[in-house]
Amino acid sequence: MSLRNIYIYVRITIIIVFISSNTLYTQNTEIVNYKINAKLNVREKSIPGYEILTWYNDSSEEVKDLQFHLYLNGFKNNKSTYFKEIGFASLKEDEWGWIDILSFKIFNGDDLTRRIEYIQPDDENREDQTVMRVILPESIKPHQKITIEIEFYSKLPKAIRRVGYSNNFFFVCQWYPKIGVYEEKGKRGAKRSGWNCHQFHASSEFYSDFGTFEVTLTVPSNFIVGATGIKLSEKDNLNGTKTLSFYGEKIHDFAWTADPDFIVFKDKFHYYGLKDVDIIYLCQPGHEFTVSSYIQRAKDVLKYYGLWFGPYPYKKLTIVDPAKGANSGGMEYPNLITAGTSYLLKFWPLNRIPFIDEVVVHEVGHQWWYGMVGNNEFENAWLDEGLNTYSADINVAGVIYPKKIQSIFFNELSISMIDLQKAMYIVDPESDPIQKFCWEFYNGGGRFYYTKAALMLKTIEMHIGQKQMNKVLKAFFEKWRYKHPGPEDFINNLEEITGKNFRWFFNQVLYGTNELDYSISKIICKRIKPARGVFDRGNRNITIYQKDIDSLAKIKMQNKMLFKNTVYVRRLGEVIFPVEIEVKFENGEIIKENWNGKKRWKKFEYIKPYKVEYAIVDPDNKIPLDINITNNSKMLKPVLRGTLKWFFKWMFWIQNILELCHFFS
Ligand SMILES: [Zn+2]
Repeated sequence: MSLRNIYIYVRITIIIVFISSNTLYTQNTEIVNYKINAKLNVREKSIPGYEILTWYNDSSEEVKDLQFHLYLNGFKNNKSTYFKEIGFASLKEDEWGWIDILSFKIFNGDDLTRRIEYIQPDDENREDQTVMRVILPESIKPHQKITIEIEFYSKLPKAIRRVGYSNNFFFVCQWYPKIGVYEEKGKRGAKRSGWNCHQFHASSEFYSDFGTFEVTLTVPSNFIVGATGIKLSEKDNLNGTKTLSFYGEKIHDFAWTADPDFIVFKDKFHYYGLKDVDIIYLCQPGHEFTVSSYIQRAKDVLKYYGLWFGPYPYKKLTIVDPAKGANSGGMEYPNLITAGTSYLLKFWPLNRIPFIDEVVVHEVGHQWWYGMVGNNEFENAWLDEGLNTYSADINVAGVIYPKKIQSIFFNELSISMIDLQKAMYIVDPESDPIQKFCWEFYNGGGRFYYTKAALMLKTIEMHIGQKQMNKVLKAFFEKWRYKHPGPEDFINNLEEITGKNFRWFFNQVLYGTNELDYSISKIICKRIKPARGVFDRGNRNITIYQKDIDSLAKIKMQNKMLFKNTVYVRRLGEVIFPVEIEVKFENGEIIKENWNGKKRWKKFEYIKPYKVEYAIVDPDNKIPLDINITNNSKMLKPVLRGTLKWFFKWMFWIQNILELCHFFS
C-alpha cells in the first residue's frame, strides 16, 4: 500500500471507530481522546501516522489556540534546545529524528495546516521546534470539545534519550503530536491561565492530560509488539505485515516497542482484594537470567503499592528489556516500563548491588506516582521522582529484599538505602532547592528531586510516624488520582491529615537551599569541688578550711564525688528542626532530651556522681536530611569506635559510589 492509500484506509477505520464510540465519550469528562493509526517502516525508521484528537475544554475560559508537543523535533538538528543543553549532538547524518505535521484540520472543518507555528515558551531559541501552536478560527467555549485530525510523519532517531532504534529494536515514545495541558489560573498553583506546554529539554520529562487512547499499529509480521493499554486485536495483512490495535483509558500517554527478537514471558498477578494484572515481560535473548526477579519485583510492587495507596486498576503491565545500545532503559510509561539489563550484572562486583531489583521496583512504582497521580514532571519533578524514590527505593525495597546492600568488597560493611540516597545528596547539597523547573538546575537536578526529596519525605515520616505517613500518602493518592497535583496540594494534604502546620518545614527544605546539620560540639566534665572559704551561717560567718575538707572527704565523701557534665549541641546548618539528644553516663544511665533546635547552640548540664560517656544528637536517625552525621556524636574519651567508625564507613561509600557513577556515565 502506498502512503496515501494507508492514510485513506486509516482515516476510514478511524472515522468508523470514532463515530461508534462518540456516544460513550460524551458520558465522561476525560480531557483527551486519541485515535491514532500508524505504521512502522523498518527500513526508513519512520512512522507515518494519522491522529484524531478530541480535546475537552475543562476550564471556565474560552480557549483561542491549541498547543502541542512535538518531542521528536528535539533530535532534528544540533540547534534544538535539547542538543544545545547537552552541549553536543551525537547523531550522524541519517540518524536524526523529527516529526513533520503534514496536515492539521478541524474534524470535518477548516484546514489549519498553514496556521502552524513553532513557539519557544521556555527559551529564546527560535530553532527549537518542539512546541507547535495553532490559533483557532473560533475559540473553544468552556466545557466544549474540539476534534481535530492530524497527518504526521515521525522519523525515529538512532537510539537516543529513551527513543529510537538500535538494529531491529524500536522503542517508540513521545512519537505523536501530543497536546499540552490547559491550566486555568490557580490550578496546580498556575500564576495565570494558559497552555502548559514546555519545550523538550535535556533533563526534563513530561506532562499531559488523562483520557483514552485507541491506537492501531501496522508492523512487519515477524515483529513482536509491546504497548500501553490492552491489545484488542491482531490481524495478518497477508502482505508481510500485521495490524494490532490497542486500547487504554485513564492514561496520559501511549508508548510502544517492536523487535523481532523479543522472548515473551507471561505471568499473572493475583492478590486477594486487589485486581488481577497480566504481566508481560519482553526479554532480550541472553537476558533470561532476569525473568524471575523482574516478574517477582513487579508483583511485589503491585502488591505493596496496591495495599498501601490503592490498587493498580489496569489489566496489563508490560516490562520491556531494551536491546543493547537502545538508550531507553529505566523509564516509565502508562502500563509499560523499561528495565535495564546488562550481561555484566551477573558478575562480581555488580552482582553485589541489586540493580535489577532497583530498576524494576522504581519503574513499576511510577505507575502510581506519575502514571495515576499525574504531576507536571517539567515543573514539579520531585512529586513523582521524590515520592517514588521514597516509596519504592526506601520503603518497598526494605520490605521485599534485605534493607542492607552488601558492600562491593567486604561482607561486614553494608549500607542502607537511605545511606545510599544520602551519599548522593551530600556531594552538593545546597546549589538548588528541590522545587525548581527541571532544566534550570545548576548541576543536574536529580540530587534534589530524587534524593533530597526522598530524604525530606523520610524525615517527615520519622517525625509523624509511619502509620500517619501511610495515611497521608494514601489520601494524596486517592484525592489526586487521574489529576494533576502541585507542591501546595501535597503540603495541604499533609497538613489536613496530620492536623499540623508544616509550612515552616517546606519553606526551608522544599523551597529553600539551606542545609540541616546538628552536632555535639563538646562535652566538658568537671569534678565539683567542695565548698571552701567564708560563708554566712545565721548571724555569723564560718570559715571552711582545706584541711577540714580533706578530713571530711576521708571519712564521708569518698564515694560521693560529684561531677558537672556539660553537653553542648550546636546547629551548624541554617535549617531549624527539632532534635533529640541522648546522653549516656558511665554507670549506664541514659537521659533523652528534646530541643526545638532554634538557637545556634544549647547546653545541657548534669550534676552526677559519675561522668558522661557519650552524647548523640538524633540518636535514632530520625533526620535523614542531616548532611553530616560524623559530627552527631561525641565521646568524653575518644576511641576509634564511634565517630571515626562512621567517618570511615561514609568515606568508603561515598568513594565507591562516585567511582560507580563514573563507571556508568
Ligand atoms: Zn523515576
